Amino acid sequence: MVAKAVSKRIVLHFPKRLVDRPIVYRLVKDYNLKFNILKAFFTPEEEGLMVLEISGKQEDYDKGIEYLTKSGLKIQSLSQDVIRNEERCTHCGACITICPTNAFELDPITRRVNFNDDKCVACGQCIKACPPRAMELHF
Ligand code: SF4
Ligand code: SF4
Repeated sequence: MVAKAVSKRIVLHFPKRLVDRPIVYRLVKDYNLKFNILKAFFTPEEEGLMVLEISGKQEDYDKGIEYLTKSGLKIQSLSQDVIRNEERCTHCGACITICPTNAFELDPITRRVNFNDDKCVACGQCIKACPPRAMELHF
């Protein structure tokens, strides 16, 4: 029987105590998986976020995910996308400091808040924080 191959994009949330540990590199050595780091955001005082594309056999993928979870990482699937409903946004700025990847920026001239979705890792934190509910989760 041919083993099923998978390729998935996930977001890893590293608690502060694990930020400097080489956890993901064991996916290659111990679980025969390949990975690409698509985005990574680490700040010294907070949790780290990493967006990975992992590929390999389904069985190895499942074991690799179990290992990451047991190591203390929180794992989120990237099959979801966060978008801004431009009609609802009042440019209040409440999302700017909440976003761990600095996807929001205040334009000093127009005083409007720009949303850079290339930086967004769909963590969902801005959804609860946005007063007019302009940030929406799409699956
Ligand atoms: S919190 Fe919501 S309304 Fe305020 S700037 Fe951000 S997206 Fe716009
Ligand atoms: S979901 Fe919101 S808070 Fe999270 S990374 Fe994207 S823009 Fe930032």
